Parts: sequence; C-alpha cells; structure tokens
Amino acid sequence: MNRELQIKTKDKEYPIKFCQSYEGLLGLLDHIDFTNKKVCIVTDTNVGNIYLEEVKNALGYSAEKVVAFTFPAGEENKTLNTVYELYELLINEKFDRKSILIALGGGVVGDLTGFTASTYLRGIDFIQMPTSLLSQVDSSIGGKTGVDFKGYKNMVGAFYQPRAVIINTKTIDTLPKNEFSSGMAEIIKHALIKDLEYLDWLEKNSEQVNLLNQESLTEMIYRSCCIKKDVVEKDEKEENIRALLNFGHTVGHAIEKIKDFTWLHGECVSVGMVVAAYLSYKRGYISKEKCYRINNVLVKYNLPIEVKDISPEEIIKVTKLDKKVKSSVLHFILLNELGVANIYTDVTDDELLNAINNII
Ligand code: NAD
Ligand code: ZN
Repeated sequence: MNRELQIKTKDKEYPIKFCQSYEGLLGLLDHIDFTNKKVCIVTDTNVGNIYLEEVKNALGYSAEKVVAFTFPAGEENKTLNTVYELYELLINEKFDRKSILIALGGGVVGDLTGFTASTYLRGIDFIQMPTSLLSQVDSSIGGKTGVDFKGYKNMVGAFYQPRAVIINTKTIDTLPKNEFSSGMAEIIKHALIKDLEYLDWLEKNSEQVNLLNQESLTEMIYRSCCIKKDVVEKDEKEENIRALLNFGHTVGHAIEKIKDFTWLHGECVSVGMVVAAYLSYKRGYISKEKCYRINNVLVKYNLPIEVKDISPEEIIKVTKLDKKVKSSVLHFILLNELGVANIYTDVTDDELLNAINNII
C-alpha cells in the first residue's frame, strides 16, 4: 500500500503521497481538477532528460494544455533570470490564475518553481514532485520557496505551500551517489534532533539503504517526512522550533561558502553537525561516546566528518558575515541528548573556535 501524509498549515492543507512510478500520477492528484487548466512542468536538464516524458504521459489529456520549461541544472541557475524566463513562457502561453505549475526535480527546481507560483498573478497553484533525496525529505515540504540573489542564498523568496507533494522513491535510482549522501546528512539530522529510535534504525539499516532497497528507502523517507511535517506544522514561519532544522547548518553554511560551493550542502552540514555535537559535549550535554556514535553514522553514509585546508578563524569570520545579513543574533542548535535539540544564543567565539580546532 502506498503511504500518505496530510500537512496542515495555516491557510492550506495538502497531502504528501508516495509512489514508485509516475504512471498513476492522476490518481494521486485526484483532489486537483485539471480540466480546462493549463499546466507547466518545470524541470532541469538532468531530471527532464530522464522523467519529463513519463510525467507528461501520465498527465495525458487531463489538462487543457501541458507545456514544459527546462532550465540548465545547477544552483547557479536558481536566480531571478530563470524566473524571468519562466514568467515569459507563462505569459506567452496565456497562463491564468487557474493554471498550475509542477516542480519536477531537486530543491533547485522546487524552490524556483514555488517562488514563481507564489508571485505569478499574485499566486497560482503548484505541485512538488521532488526527485532528489534532499528535496524528498526536506525542501519540498514546508513551503519555503525562493531564489539566490547576488551570491546570497535564498535572499528573495516567499512562504508558499504547494497543493500536493508527490514522492516517487524510484527516482533515487538515478541520483548521483554524492547527491544521495548529501541528502542523507539531512536525514541523520532529523534523527539527531528529534528521534533516537530513528537513529538506531539508520545505524541498523545502512547497508540496505545504501543499496537503495526500495522498502528501506521508502520507510526512511517517510519517517523523515513525518519529522519535517511535525516541525513545520508547529512553526510554519520559523519563529521558533523550525530553527531546530538548522542543526549543523551554522558551520555548514560557512564551509559551503569557503569551499565556494565545491562541496555539496549535505557534506558541509555533516561537518557542521560534528562541530555542533562537539560543542554539546564540551558543555556537558552529551558524552564523548555519543559524539563518536554521531561520527560513525555519518561515515556509514559516506559523509565527511572533517574538512582540511580551512582555518577555524575563517569559519568564524564567515559565520558572522552570514549573521549580519540574515539575523542579528547567532542562533546555535545544540544537542541535549541524542534525539533532543535546543536553540542557544549564547555560544561564544571561544567555544566555537575550540570546537572547530578539535574537529578540523
Ligand atoms: P539540486 O536540485 O541541484 O539537485 C541536485 C542534482 O541532482 C542536480 O544536478 C539535479 O539535476 C540532479 N537530480 C535531481 N534528482 C535527480 C534524479 N532523480 N536523477 C538524476 N539526477 C537528479 O539540489 P538538491 O540537493 O535537490 O536541493 C538543493 C537546493 O534546495 C538548494 O538550492 C537549497 O537552497 C534548497 N533547499 C531548500 C529548502 C526549503 O525548505 N525550501 C530546504 C533545503 C534546501
Ligand atoms: Zn540543509
């Protein structure tokens, strides 16, 4: 039986549905009426090459018109320029307020499509069809949409919820291995901040998961979606507990920038989580053994636990730059226990420097 979840946010309620093929897509979207509606499938070159035809075929003649917008894959294209081109297509094709966008791809496609949907004609419907592991467990759920601007990540955007999230777990088969590991970092993060039993599961099932066993993958993606759903429903606009999802991200973002985005997001977050765990240990919240346990699970999923050629001072400098732009106080997420995290605003430079020095 296919799994399903229902997300309830302030102004929208929508399902997250799981499948292993796009064949039955219309059945999964039976709460949406496509009759007399125009649909635009937005995708990138990598994903479009593999899945666009399948999705088009699955939609068949349900809609008045189905068009596609394919842009070159890569974060460097998550920009207003691409949004501009998409607006042009939508206007040329006479898309109106009843029209629907479908985001078929990873987080780049999802964020950009959601943002376009939120602004075109003051907001039209969109559907998330995430195809990367990261987008299936993280970016497609919760309504954060946006694009990068002048090198600042996600600087322009909106909170805008989709009408549905369709997770085809079979698409993970074609995902590059390093992208898979990158997504695993967010999954391990979910377990560390919210669910000790899930951490046990990830440790025990690493072989099956790494072999992309469908049953194990589905179980894992479903469990992560449950955690993300729970957090987002309690705090849609990141006013409090949604910030827990930033565990490992303060240092992770800094590494990402210093490495000039040559390391994948999850790889940077992995090292960031090791630093945050060490900080938690130094404060006496968790034991050293628990830090080792965290390192081990990251290694099981082929994630790095250290980074060479970066000075700790540089990381602290970049962390502060990020802070200046996005918020006035540095929020640090620490673990009080495996499976329990809290937000701290009192982490000092010395503490951070010490932790980074011990890791990197
Ligand atoms: P991505 O969209 O760039 O996808 C990674 C790569 O994998 C791309 O080259 C893509 O073409 C390819 N790909 C995706 N699915 C594939 C498949 N099934 N088969 C073959 N290739 C496939 O990156 P991502 O890691 O999915 O997402 C990262 C983006 O998500 C960033 O822009 C980040 O800011 C954003 N994000 C948003 C949120 C949110 O809440 N909105 C949360 C986390 C991250
Ligand atoms: Zn992340």
